[in-house]
Amino acid sequence: MAKLNDDIRYLKGIGEQRANSLAKLGITNLRELISYFPRTYEDRSHYVPIAALSDGDTACVRAMVANEPTLSRVRRGMELVKLRAVDESGTMDITYFNQSYIKQQLKAGESYIFYGRVSVEGNRRSMVNPVFELENGERSVTGRIVPVYRLTAGISQKLLIGAMRRGLDECANQLPDSLPESVAERQKLCKTSYAYENIHFPADLGALELARRRLIFEELFVLSCALSRIKLSRVKKSGIIVSTPRLEEFFSALPFIATGAQQRAIADAARDMASGCAMNRLVQGDVGSGKTLVAAACIWCAHEGGLQSAFMAPTEILANQHYDTLSRLLAPYDIKVAKLTGSMPAKQKRETLELIKSGEVSLVVGTHALIGDAVEFDKLALVITDEQHRFGVNQRAALISKGHDPHTLVMSATPIPRTLALMLYGDLDVSVIDELPPGRQKVDTFAVGEEMRQRIYKFMRKQVEQGRQVFVVCPVIDENEENPQNLKSAKEYAKELATIEFPDLKIGCVHGKLKASEKDKVMQSFVDGELDILVATTVIEVGVDVPNASLVVVENAERYGLSQLHQLRGRVGRGAHKSYCVLFSEAQNDEAKARLKVMEQTSDGFKISEEDLKLRGPGDFFGSRQHGLPEMHIADLCTDVRILQEAQAAAQELLQRDPELRAEENQRLKARIDELFAANAATLN
Ligand code: ADP
Ligand code: MG
Repeated sequence: MAKLNDDIRYLKGIGEQRANSLAKLGITNLRELISYFPRTYEDRSHYVPIAALSDGDTACVRAMVANEPTLSRVRRGMELVKLRAVDESGTMDITYFNQSYIKQQLKAGESYIFYGRVSVEGNRRSMVNPVFELENGERSVTGRIVPVYRLTAGISQKLLIGAMRRGLDECANQLPDSLPESVAERQKLCKTSYAYENIHFPADLGALELARRRLIFEELFVLSCALSRIKLSRVKKSGIIVSTPRLEEFFSALPFIATGAQQRAIADAARDMASGCAMNRLVQGDVGSGKTLVAAACIWCAHEGGLQSAFMAPTEILANQHYDTLSRLLAPYDIKVAKLTGSMPAKQKRETLELIKSGEVSLVVGTHALIGDAVEFDKLALVITDEQHRFGVNQRAALISKGHDPHTLVMSATPIPRTLALMLYGDLDVSVIDELPPGRQKVDTFAVGEEMRQRIYKFMRKQVEQGRQVFVVCPVIDENEENPQNLKSAKEYAKELATIEFPDLKIGCVHGKLKASEKDKVMQSFVDGELDILVATTVIEVGVDVPNASLVVVENAERYGLSQLHQLRGRVGRGAHKSYCVLFSEAQNDEAKARLKVMEQTSDGFKISEEDLKLRGPGDFFGSRQHGLPEMHIADLCTDVRILQEAQAAAQELLQRDPELRAEENQRLKARIDELFAANAATLN
């Protein structure tokens, strides 16, 4: 009997070469093989009488081979095997190209199932190269629901189906199963063996549904347990008690009135910091919702308690902006604010480090420079990071380690539907800022085609003439990239605009291939108003504030997800000026059009992200697994919401009964969670 961890090479029919191809699909051992679930299925369980076949159908036919197959050579190297098959209703011609061995396999007088595409000419019906199996033999690709797998070069469906069959048989009595029996029973879930068999080779659609439900539940249950355990262990971590000063004093000194959502988030955070446990909170809010104020309030609380705070931003420009904004918001109080970035002159840096170490500054705002070895704090009590996707968990952890269990506040502008937030940030408490400051103008949004290009150029010029600035966003960096669809590339397009359309204007270009320092230089000159037009890739997506920018033009807008378009649009409308977003697209398909329509009609980031999920599904939504959760094999975090809720409830219930997972029946679950932690240590810990 094979073991789940056995190398895939030991499976019959899999040699070195195929093993290498399978590795590209993430399959290197038996466990990975049987957990490689079908992408979809083809229902080949119905037989169609020959007389009922129509041209273009793909169908299963149960028929007898009526004559000895004939082999002929038409041209040099081209071999044909021809035969005729019959059932009660009629006859069908079958031809195989270049598979002469089939002449030996198909025997006159035997009945087979043929599956293939039908051609009808007059009343002659035929199939070319149909798949076939003996009617009375073992059948894996005809007469049933057949799995369809994602493939790679060198691996065919037939090969993978065969390997799957053998793989399942090899490990039939040791299938991976991490569900405690009592949970499986209460949820009325089928047995593992049934689930694995039917997810690959469903007996019928009902069996497939049962199998899916069990496997999805199991995956989400394990994840829920893992995340809950992190949360449980975190709650126990003690934190510095920061007693809450009179917040009214803070609010009344502001130049504006904090929104209800801001006040709630601040109250949440203040309560956390006073609780004696370490705060671990995510503040989530649309662009422009005023997250910085929440940070400022927390910093003030820490300062009043005689403690220090650190604020880390992903780029130098953002660090500069936050430094300015926070200095302004904290101006009414006697708070010393310092800045620390990589590009600072050495002398200034030394002095700053000294001030941080002595505790003279209450707040330091900076980039990754903050996690450098030379940085020491006197009493760091609060760590704030902005735009969390841009930081690795390790970087955040490095900053946190400079204090003794400091409170942490993470700010993210990626709106995530509520149903998902709990899952994705299972280890964080979440405050949502779902209200924009009053008087915010809507960014007028237009989806347009090529025929509007000259008018848009005129409009761009008009904005610049009025003293405003314009962003142009392109999907590709330069011409050397593979670009079959002829998408706009930032470098060439910037040149084109500078020479042909706007030779009199100042145009800059920024993209991900530039060095960080060069990127910052171009961005800074745009911020300072030295450039009229900035042609960029999505690098500008991260919250840079240019209040004078009033127009963002997105080229090949169909290339972006809604949430991404929303982020890009958020680059304008940040000042007093009426702002616009133009989405260029020649896409004709309905889905792309529907997406751009949503952008024209909605400016609510949460609504947009929900639409995005509906249209694209979560895989795309999260792009390159930005959310940092372990990859799901079968569960879909967005559409399987009901099972997700059931799994979460079951996980809560189980952990209440057995928080340390000591019971015998929970050992496999515990082992699975440990495995998950080991594989995803960076994200889960
Ligand atoms: P984001 O959530 O995108 O980080 P910011 O904190 O940068 O948003 O705030 C965006 C702008 O809105 C800033 O100029 C800030 O001063 C302003 N702002 C924040 N809160 C309010 C409020 N309650 N009323 C008016 N303006 C506000
Ligand atoms: Mg911000």
